[in-house]
Amino acid sequence: MAGGLSARMPRFADPDGRVDIKSLSFDELTADLVALGSQKFRALQVWKWLWQKKVRDFADMTNVSKEWRAKLAEHFVIYELTPVGVLTSVDGTRKFLWHTREGQQIESVLIPEIVDPEEGGGRLTLCVSTQVGCAMACTFCLTGDLGLKRHLKPSEIINQPVQIARILPEGERITNVVMMGMGEPLHNYDNLVAALRVYLDEHGLGLSHRRVTVSTVGLVPAMRKLTEELPVNLAVSLNASTEEQRLKVMPITKKWSMAELLQTCRDLPVHHHKRITFEYVMMAGFNDSIEDAARIVKLMRGIRSKVNLIPYNENPSRDIRRPGQEVAKAFQHHLVTRGVQCSIRATRGKDISAACGQLGKADPSTVAIFGPAVLPNPALADGALPVD
Ligand code: SAH
Repeated sequence: MAGGLSARMPRFADPDGRVDIKSLSFDELTADLVALGSQKFRALQVWKWLWQKKVRDFADMTNVSKEWRAKLAEHFVIYELTPVGVLTSVDGTRKFLWHTREGQQIESVLIPEIVDPEEGGGRLTLCVSTQVGCAMACTFCLTGDLGLKRHLKPSEIINQPVQIARILPEGERITNVVMMGMGEPLHNYDNLVAALRVYLDEHGLGLSHRRVTVSTVGLVPAMRKLTEELPVNLAVSLNASTEEQRLKVMPITKKWSMAELLQTCRDLPVHHHKRITFEYVMMAGFNDSIEDAARIVKLMRGIRSKVNLIPYNENPSRDIRRPGQEVAKAFQHHLVTRGVQCSIRATRGKDISAACGQLGKADPSTVAIFGPAVLPNPALADGALPVD
């Protein structure tokens, strides 16, 4: 390529021109390296150092020649999120606070699940953020209060599991990833897909598509595109049983009606052993009646679905109440007895504001107050404070 690397238009780069290497696809990395005069095989070497060995420095890529390590450092930069702290819940859930390079805060939540004898081991699920803040403005969700600050880059979406994997004890690994942290993943479509490709790549993070879930408020065209591009699981935050009800709490309904959303779900080429998950945040006296349940049964007709009831996580900023467990149980019973798969999501990490809809407000200065609750992991403690 005439002009080498500079002739390309790197999507993410430092002001000094160095390219954010972790935001590149494998093909982009290969093209960049070839443009710099490398043979193709080096791309896979570098790729494995980045994603399998999870190195932070080109100098650690020991099977790459010295000359090439220097060349890589001249043209590329390996970004990391700055760990700000970790909050540990009494139930074992851990919330990781990170700063981006500009000091914006994002959060990831690591949720150990109750051991399932059928799976032969406990799942360890990471809930990943895809944006700083969120533009969707769902009335009940605290992340929405922030508004959208910016989309996360692919490197920032991938770094959440990568940097956490590095500090897990020997033998523990992240088994599942859900894009249910801060932000609307499908609003950041290109960066999300770039990150997911690395998650699923056998030489990347090597996660099975069965263990990766993207949750959305229902951005209809992007949902169609995603199911065509990647085989990941889809979750839709439905949260209402009528158009009017949904309009009250989810402004996105003005753009894509519930009818359009559900028709899209009916038409999606969902792989035969996959189901679309419908998240349904239950708010007392608003959408938790048996009439609501009866409407949901009708709405689910013709969709390979499972409904996940999420009793509202109360917080001081909203008047919304959480329905009692009996109400959730009765709702679930109504669905299940009419052939609709339905589960009730257990609340995790409530004491550290890591539960659904509570991300985005953590004050890093409170981390110190938590004292021993901060993960006493030396690997993280090292970089536990912002460097600048
Ligand atoms: N924007 C995407 C990804 C975020 S997932 C989406 O909305 O699907 C976060 C989930 O938590 C969503 O299903 C949302 O409806 C739910 N949620 C938000 N606030 C909540 C709260 N206070 N209690 C329980 N669930 C909440």
